[in-house]
Amino acid sequence: MLRAHTSDHADVVIIGAGIAGLSAAHQLISAGVDVSVLEAAAHPGGRMATDDMDGFRLDRLGPLLGSAGPELGTTPGLDGLVLRDFAPGVLVHSEGRQYLAGDVRSARGALRAVRSRPSAPRAPLGGAIEQARLGAWLARLAAAPESRITARPDRAALDALSARGLSPRVVGGFLRPLLSALLGDPGLTTSSRMADLTLRDYARGRLCVPSGGSATLPGLLAAALPPGTVRTGVHVTAADITSVRTKEHGELGCRSLLLATGAGAAAELLPGLRTPAFHPVTVLHHTTAQAPPTGARLLLDGDRSGPVAHTAVMSEVDPSRAPHGRALITSTVLGPPPPDLDDAVRAHLAALYGTPTDDWELLAAHHDPEAVPAMPPPHDPRRPVRLLAGLYVCGDHRDTSTVQGALRSGRRAASAILADLGVRSPQADGTGLPTAA
Ligand SMILES: Cc1cc2nc3c(=O)[nH]c(=O)nc-3n(C[C@H](O)[C@H](O)[C@H](O)COP(=O)(O)OP(=O)(O)OC[C@H]3O[C@@H](n4cnc5c(N)ncnc54)[C@H](O)[C@@H]3O)c2cc1C
Repeated sequence: MLRAHTSDHADVVIIGAGIAGLSAAHQLISAGVDVSVLEAAAHPGGRMATDDMDGFRLDRLGPLLGSAGPELGTTPGLDGLVLRDFAPGVLVHSEGRQYLAGDVRSARGALRAVRSRPSAPRAPLGGAIEQARLGAWLARLAAAPESRITARPDRAALDALSARGLSPRVVGGFLRPLLSALLGDPGLTTSSRMADLTLRDYARGRLCVPSGGSATLPGLLAAALPPGTVRTGVHVTAADITSVRTKEHGELGCRSLLLATGAGAAAELLPGLRTPAFHPVTVLHHTTAQAPPTGARLLLDGDRSGPVAHTAVMSEVDPSRAPHGRALITSTVLGPPPPDLDDAVRAHLAALYGTPTDDWELLAAHHDPEAVPAMPPPHDPRRPVRLLAGLYVCGDHRDTSTVQGALRSGRRAASAILADLGVRSPQADGTGLPTAA
């Protein structure tokens, strides 16, 4: 029998109000289970954080979220989410020029791989034959079911890309910088299956970000939970199946425990858990009066000629991120940042955008050494979320290291908890009503 929620007991205690924990809380509550989510920080959201500063919305995730995948459409609580699309294709900077590449739509709706700007030559992204090959390859990938991709041998993404029969110019000048940006992995050591699924999402849709910054997404999830479900400023110091100890509020009892922290914090609370390697990411925000003329497009460094992997004028993609009359340029450095970060980034941005950046004002720089859990081959994107009856773990490190993966891991963990509690999820019986089994 399920017990009523009190301040020192809940049927399920979830540690961590990142999107994985919040997604699990929604599934459990909609099945009638009593849940308490304990969050150490002052706000829910975890890594999906956006800082307010003088009218700017400064996103810690940088200029990218990825393609709008299915979890965003199916996770309860996200009905009000507004996504801002980047313009189709990406700009690649190479040998001193910008090229428009990877616009997967054409006037006839067919897939078109690489297209140069009207005023720009096609090199170094390849001639017509190379572009046609890339277009055909992306078209096949877009149509491939997940099962076919995950049945392929798994190896490092860079090795797999080099063996696809595409020209080195297309791989080095377009696919490599695009995938590095999408995966947060400059060396492309990620599993080739995960890389192919990521490129498939890109070939199927458009890059987008949440309007107002990535914190909007967990903000919506948290706001749609019953009041009092999420308790912020509560740091869990020890946990087992039936209780958790907190720094601020003593001990709380529970019937089941779900660890929804990042991988490092999960391993501290449960020392047997494996900690993955991480890809560190640094995000910088600059402002200037005059926006560089790239429009709402992601700009990639095709030559790896400086610290910036990708950058965008975010005020063009999402005008709500900057006050009127100011441009917001957000840039990402993958891997360890250089010691002279702002100087090195500013010089590189001047080359990428083709405009002086001396008078650009640095608003903020944020480094996260555990930004993206590495997914080397062989990677299992459905790592078990049930450790034993009553003890569960979710988060991007149990799935894919993405927003989609974190949401999906929360959903999988909630299903496992409901099965062990003998409660059928509303999604499972299709009636929308919780059913005790
Ligand atoms: C710079 C950067 C760029 C990224 N870019 C992208 C991208 O472009 N596309 C994409 O899909 N993904 C991207 N990601 C990854 C994405 O943000 C994560 O996959 C996702 O947010 C992970 O959510 P989560 O709930 O699993 O973990 P988290 O967001 O880490 O949430 C865990 C929560 O647990 C809390 N917690 C930890 N320990 C305790 C404790 N002891 N007691 C109580 N609470 C605790 C934390 O405070 C945190 O709120 C990026 C991440 C970063 C950092």
